[in-house]
Amino acid sequence: KSPPLLAVNNIEVIYDHVILVLKGVSLEVPEGKIVALLGANGAGKTTTLKAISNLLRAERGEVTRGSIVYKGRRVDALSPAALVKMGVVQVMEGRHVFGHLTVEENLLTGAYTRRASRTEIRRDLELVYSYFPRLKERRNALAGFTSGGEQQMTAVGRALMARPTMILLDEPSMGLAPQIVEEIYEIVKHLNQSEGVSFLLAEQNTNVALRYANYGYILENGRVVMDGEARTLADNEDVKEFYLGVS
Ligand code: ATP
Repeated sequence: KSPPLLAVNNIEVIYDHVILVLKGVSLEVPEGKIVALLGANGAGKTTTLKAISNLLRAERGEVTRGSIVYKGRRVDALSPAALVKMGVVQVMEGRHVFGHLTVEENLLTGAYTRRASRTEIRRDLELVYSYFPRLKERRNALAGFTSGGEQQMTAVGRALMARPTMILLDEPSMGLAPQIVEEIYEIVKHLNQSEGVSFLLAEQNTNVALRYANYGYILENGRVVMDGEARTLADNEDVKEFYLGVS
C-alpha cells in the first residue's frame, strides 16, 4: 500500500490554552480520493481542516500533540501560504468571497502565491470558466451581489487558480438549495476524476457527502468514532439513524 497523500496522526487541538477541542484525531487522504469528514455542528470538523492548513493561530488555537504529514513531509509548522505552494488549498466555510471585488477579481486572487505569467493565468481562468460557465456570465458582477451558489462556485474557482493537488473544502452545501448542492458536488467529482484533485471535505450533509466520497470519518466531540468506505457507512444502521435521518 502506498503512503497516503495526507496523514493526520493523533492530533490534539486546544483553543485559548485551555479549551480542548480535538482529542486525538487521526485520518488519511489517499492520493486521488475524496474523503468526507462528517459530524454534527461543533464536532470539530472545521478545527481539523484549520489544523491541517495551519489557520488556527488566528483563532488562538494550537496543535498541541500529534503530527500532520503531507507527501511524506511534516507540515505542522508551515504557513498557510507555504502549504498553498505545496498544493494544499482550503475553501473556508461560509464561502468568504471578497464582496466588493468582481467575481473575476476574486478568482485572480487565488493565483497570488504562484509565479505565473499573464498568459498562464488567463488560461487557468478560462479553465475555471469551463467548469463554471455561470461564473463566466457573472465575471463582472460584484461577488457580494451574486447568489449563494455562485459565491460557493467562486470560492472553489479561486482555490483552483492555485493549481491545487488537494482541496480542503469546508461545508460546501451550507445554505444552498439541494439542486445547487448537487451541482457543486458534480464539479468536485469531475475535478477529482479528470484532474486528479484529492479532497478532504467537512460536511454536515451526510447524505450528499457519502454519495460522492470514497471514504468517510465521523467525528463526535473531537474524536473519530467511526470510519469506513462511504458505501459501508451509508448502509450502517447507526449512521442511518443518527446521521441520515432514517431508521
Ligand atoms: P461547524 O459545523 O460549526 O463548523 P465543526 O464540527 O466544524 O462545526 P468546530 O467549528 O471545529 O466544529 O468547533 C469544535 C468546537 O470547538 C466547538 O465546541 C466550538 O465551540 C469550539 N471552538 C471553535 N472555535 C473556537 C475558538 N476560536 N475558541 C474557542 N473554542 C472554539
